Amino acid sequence: MARYTGPVCRLCRRERTKLFLKGTRCESPKCPIEKGRPPPGEHGRGRVRESEYLLQLREKQKAKRFYGVLEKQFRSYYREAARSKGVTGEVLMRICESRLDNVVYRAGFAMNRGMGRQLVSHGHFQVNERKVNVASYRVKPGDVVSVRGRSRNVGRIIENTSYAEGRVIPDWLSSNLREMAVEVRALPERNQIDAPVQEQLIVEYYSK
Ligand code: SF4
Repeated sequence: MARYTGPVCRLCRRERTKLFLKGTRCESPKCPIEKGRPPPGEHGRGRVRESEYLLQLREKQKAKRFYGVLEKQFRSYYREAARSKGVTGEVLMRICESRLDNVVYRAGFAMNRGMGRQLVSHGHFQVNERKVNVASYRVKPGDVVSVRGRSRNVGRIIENTSYAEGRVIPDWLSSNLREMAVEVRALPERNQIDAPVQEQLIVEYYSK
């Protein structure tokens, strides 16, 4: 399963916004965005002519990086969203949010989506009591995602859940960190998704 393995702060610097790809560092003054570090590369500090195309491209890249999805899969999500009856951009965001690695992160079992992806692919989670080790698995309303029996003693998961006790869990999820389980109440509406993305620009990018 292909994934980006380079330095993640570089991605935030490229998009000039916090994508929360690490953990506690993202909330600390050590975050390069907090420090005002410029985009990477020779021309990072230079002025760039912001064409319409560039804005659309950057928005698409930002969304992919936020959710840790590569181009091929993201494009297939867009096609699925475009075929659906709803507003394409909103459906696209809902599809990304319903990925199992995102739910594991949102529910507080992982410090970031990358870690969520790793914990899922290492077989630590089950959905409705059936093991699922595919990070791109999409949850549905009513699904219960929980940590599997022996994995409840994995130090990293215990640490993450105790850190998450002070975090806001989105209200489309009903998380019970003591039981190490989360129920999907409903798939989120756009106003329940805090992704720093203007999805309409992504739709414009793909629909050319
Ligand atoms: Fe790095 Fe997190 Fe800051 Fe992004 S938000 S630059 S991942 S510390």
